[in-house]
Amino acid sequence: MSLRLFDAHNHLQDERLASQRLEILRALPGAGVVRMVVNSSCEADWPEVLALAKSVPQVIPSFGCHPWYVAERTADWQANLVKFLDAVPSAIGEIGLDKWIKNHNLAEQREVFVWQLRLAAERNLPVSIHCLEAWGTLLDVLRENPLPRCGFVLHSFGGPREMIAELARLGACFSLPGYFAHERKLRQRDIFKHVPRERLLIETDAPDQALPAERLEFSLPDSANGRPVNHPANLGAVYRFAAELLDMPLEVLAEQVEENFQRVFAALG
Ligand SMILES: [Zn+2]
Repeated sequence: MSLRLFDAHNHLQDERLASQRLEILRALPGAGVVRMVVNSSCEADWPEVLALAKSVPQVIPSFGCHPWYVAERTADWQANLVKFLDAVPSAIGEIGLDKWIKNHNLAEQREVFVWQLRLAAERNLPVSIHCLEAWGTLLDVLRENPLPRCGFVLHSFGGPREMIAELARLGACFSLPGYFAHERKLRQRDIFKHVPRERLLIETDAPDQALPAERLEFSLPDSANGRPVNHPANLGAVYRFAAELLDMPLEVLAEQVEENFQRVFAALG
């Protein structure tokens, strides 16, 4: 039986994948990839994400302003975002809060995040949320603002285990990246054993967050800085890691993740 796989979060538009784009797209059907949520990080990404949405059937586009790039947004970013959201059925992401990055301005990040979150609630669009070292602020924001009824995705979830129940109550799904298969990610890996099964999603975050080398099924040449580039077709390898971690038969896991994904992204086909 061939599996049907759903990638809750990647960056297919990333320039590190550009020279290999055709080869990557050709590998997707054979690798079982049915849908992938392609997340922009900044305004400059939006046209490419839109172009991919129009030409690649697996793509669910996601437009948003990531906390690392809030300072780069243009004066018209809000009107521009609305224009892209109106162009095709789409999600909002990648957005969020990040106190890990140097020289962060959390107040500015929060303002940009809340504006996008409210827009998502108004339009009932799924959201992909990035959060590093700002879990308390994230919980405040989620409690104080309207949220999309379809729910939201905590991408590459590495938050405290104690917050899982409250985040789930607010509508969260928790997305597991292959990167957590690395030995040093023991804490993050263990946290996923406490995620409710009906809220579990799987992601590659390609071209970032590659699995350990021995688990990779598809490889791409290293990027200019010498770091490995994650191929989006490694999604199946992430599912296999998740099945081992959660001690679930692969088929059962795949059915559960499909159900979860379809629930959140239902409106976007
Ligand atoms: Zn990402």
